[in-house]
Amino acid sequence: AAKSRGRNRMERFNEELHARVLRRLRIESDLRIALREAQLHVHYQPQVSLVTGRVVGVEALARWQHPELGAMSPAEFIPIAEECRLVDELGWQVLRSACHQLAAWRVLEPTLSMTVNLSPRQLDNPAFVTELQHLLAQTGTEPTALCLELTESALMRRNSDVVEILTQVRQLGVYVAMDDFGTEHSSLSRLRELPVEVLKIDRAFIDGLPDETGDLAIVSSILSLAYAMGKHVIAEGVETVEQALALCDMGCPVAQGYLFARPLAAGEIPALLGQPLWQAPSGWKARLQPA
Ligand code: C2E
Ligand code: MG
Ligand code: MG
Ligand code: MG
Repeated sequence: AAKSRGRNRMERFNEELHARVLRRLRIESDLRIALREAQLHVHYQPQVSLVTGRVVGVEALARWQHPELGAMSPAEFIPIAEECRLVDELGWQVLRSACHQLAAWRVLEPTLSMTVNLSPRQLDNPAFVTELQHLLAQTGTEPTALCLELTESALMRRNSDVVEILTQVRQLGVYVAMDDFGTEHSSLSRLRELPVEVLKIDRAFIDGLPDETGDLAIVSSILSLAYAMGKHVIAEGVETVEQALALCDMGCPVAQGYLFARPLAAGEIPALLGQPLWQAPSGWKARLQPA
């Protein structure tokens, strides 16, 4: 009996593994088609000034509605795209859409900025900076209105010439943000040598506000560090009024999260521009925003 139980468990394990491998292969081949046929689209999540309550920027997030599997999470398909070298094409499609939208929306909100997620694999393309420059020119994008987000772990990689490439990106006028700040082994000396202007505080630390003293301490330290280094800050994943008020208390200038708006289809953005999505408590003043 024990033997057959063991065999059953083995069979179940094999079946699960088999199913997972099949799903992975299917996603890979369907993603190839989706990219060729431009089936992916982009949603945009507002970033809100905690001072004025207005939308100051939007983050572009890739979306894929699979014909049979339904809405796929980028957390699932981006890593697959990275493994099978599709992320370069995917990244350009997202950047192109984002730049077109940005140009259109800046007519309505002249200071609006756009942040776009970048895979470290995209920087392996030796033509990255040249192609970025072309895209900016083609779409009439103001370079200083665009910000490229790389995760902390991507920026800590030392194998490719990240500092050199990002320095060239900065020379075009485009900003660079460190996404998910605080979740990986950030080396502060590395932060000093990188041309990064924006730190995005990971949702993991916002979750525990305002009660967890550990999270309060971490968020407040990141804010102090950012001000001292002259960097801009965006808090990610703000879901409750209490969290937003705690961020106000600590002088955080900009936040993003379901409390203000979820990632939205492009057509829904214009209605949100120019009107407050958040009301700061009366008498509250943000600490000076760094240049
Ligand atoms: P990220 O860049 O850190 O993006 C923030 C994620 O948090 C998004 O998930 C967003 O929908 C979600 N989010 C925003 N506000 C809240 C909130 O208040 N509560 C909660 N629980 N979640 C919130 P999403 O869209 O599923 O994207 C997941 C990750 O996939 C992104 O994390 C980013 O790393 C990656 N990604 C998405 N689009 C692209 C892309 O075009 N290129 C690349 N390379 N990566 C992308
Ligand atoms: Mg991001
Ligand atoms: Mg993030
Ligand atoms: Mg993330």
